[in-house]
Amino acid sequence: MLSVIIPAYNEGENINTASDTISGLLDSAKINFEIIFSDDGSRDNTWEIIKARAKSDPRIKGVRFSRNFGKEAAIFAGLEKAAECGCSCAVVIDCDLQHPPELIVQMHELWKDGYEVVEARKSSRGRESLVYKAFAKSFYRLMKSSSGLNLDGASDYKLLDRKVIDALNAMQERQTFFRALSAWVGFKTTHVSFEVQPRLHGKTKWSFRNLFKFALSSVTGFTNFPMHMMTVFGVLFMVMTVVLGVHTFVMWFLNKSMTGFTTVILLLLIIGSMLMFGLGIIGYYLAKIYEEIKFRPRYIVNEDTDRTKELSSND
Ligand code: UDP
Ligand code: MG
Repeated sequence: MLSVIIPAYNEGENINTASDTISGLLDSAKINFEIIFSDDGSRDNTWEIIKARAKSDPRIKGVRFSRNFGKEAAIFAGLEKAAECGCSCAVVIDCDLQHPPELIVQMHELWKDGYEVVEARKSSRGRESLVYKAFAKSFYRLMKSSSGLNLDGASDYKLLDRKVIDALNAMQERQTFFRALSAWVGFKTTHVSFEVQPRLHGKTKWSFRNLFKFALSSVTGFTNFPMHMMTVFGVLFMVMTVVLGVHTFVMWFLNKSMTGFTTVILLLLIIGSMLMFGLGIIGYYLAKIYEEIKFRPRYIVNEDTDRTKELSSND
């Protein structure tokens, strides 16, 4: 059975269209499926609609968080639920249908051919601002050069075999980055390309601040490159110090010693800012360790359509 995992945050307008489109497509392709909605603590009527759908169609399920935990948590909740329901593979897709659902059938075919991870890669980035594009590009470049994971054009739209789902579910880390983790686990991978579609209803749920925090946490989660960079800077400064020392000594010997406070103040400022910068980087990693060792759950489930069904049947 194929599980379709759909994270949803304030997507009341999109739930019905998404589930109708996807079930229609999979029914006509004769694929045995279930749809799992992860309601990421929506404030609108998303959960009511999911519940109503689950009542009328047993193939539709949903879990609801106690608050907004973010898309990452919603995806992982979906993966856990899919494993619980005994899926043999699962596909993660956005609720706004920016990921063309027709591709699911093609991805499922590839899975049947023996591929264990089928990634859908963006052939173009859709309508995004220039700043956003530049930001995304430099982020992916940094990730590639430092961690070796090529995430260019990567999206969360992926089909995963049960083995991959189990591997991901076994990961202990709290701060996850689904896109990179599903590449990190390995397995037999292939990809298909898609054009990003315009959003169905509403607007994007990501603010620039959230994206920046997300990028920072992903970089620190996957590479120690920023810390290495500090060591490199340290070595460079040491070399400069030696050169400057020799120069000063020679000048003094020739009785041509330089005067000037500006250089001294400049050097102090540079070294001071480098030290602060370095401390800041170490601080990020320290904060990350702190977050991880608290061992809090990634998300808290408040309601589950399967559980409410059980309750009502016991009445
Ligand atoms: N989403 C979520 N939790 C959040 C933000 C977003 O579950 O905190 C879901 C959202 O409902 C959608 C998907 O993640 O199904 C992608 O979000 P969005 O379309 O806002 O992002 P974009 O397409 O602009 O990257
Ligand atoms: Mg979207």
